Amino acid sequence: MTNKFKLDPVIESNVKPEFKKDEYEPLGKPVYVKKETALDAMAGDGGYQEAYLADVIRFKMKRDKKRFWAGDNISEYILDDRMKNQLIDEATDAFELVLDRLLIDRETDPNSKGTARRLAKMYFNEIMAGRYEQAPDCTAFPNDSQDRYEGMLVVRSELRSMCSHHHQPVSGVAYIGLIAAEHLIGLSKYTRIAQWCARRGTLQEELANDIAREIQKATGAKDLGVYIQATHGCCENRGIMAHSSLTQTTVLKGAFKDDMGTKKEFFDNIKMQQEFAPR
Ligand SMILES: [Zn+2]
Repeated sequence: MTNKFKLDPVIESNVKPEFKKDEYEPLGKPVYVKKETALDAMAGDGGYQEAYLADVIRFKMKRDKKRFWAGDNISEYILDDRMKNQLIDEATDAFELVLDRLLIDRETDPNSKGTARRLAKMYFNEIMAGRYEQAPDCTAFPNDSQDRYEGMLVVRSELRSMCSHHHQPVSGVAYIGLIAAEHLIGLSKYTRIAQWCARRGTLQEELANDIAREIQKATGAKDLGVYIQATHGCCENRGIMAHSSLTQTTVLKGAFKDDMGTKKEFFDNIKMQQEFAPR
């Protein structure tokens, strides 16, 4: 990087910018954009080209009033692998800059040489994959025959997630319980849905809600419960350094919330699962 620090005429001017600095300052090289033309340009009238695909997508999402928080899925804006690969390339450049700013020698330290690209790929393809990939395909099977299953189903799903605040790992299990509705989905699909929700920047409280909502969408079940217990890297590796801390969150809907018998059966099932295989 040869850029010298200089005041940004857009950001430092007396005219109050409409966007916050961190949202609007492109990574790597300065691009000056008049706020009233950028969105129009993105709408397709040409004449203006953004430097980064990530910026183009960001403008589109803003124009559509699409929320793109760390826990949101934005797969409808990433149309194919070619686009994703370009985003990975752009993120690689940005991570290189971060490593430079951290004064880590990525030129001669053999372990840091490919780190920027490894980080970029890891974010897009692994730890935040649930933001960029479409929902898992869940074929629903009818559950409407005479001898339909009417009992409670409890599935335990291993979870790996990441806190939005520090990008530290969150690891634990979700217990998903429901009373079977008109259709059933394959057992592995519960875990696929849970992991798809988890592979983002999350808050555990929101994650429980997200899983409950997506399971409801896939199954049509109105009676359902999601219980998550997880350890948080941001409590274990930093901050209070509390190594055995465990956080529990519960979301209950329909009979799981209103009927004490159903609620008790759910938690009894969880206990039985934990006795069968401690977790
Ligand atoms: Zn955190």
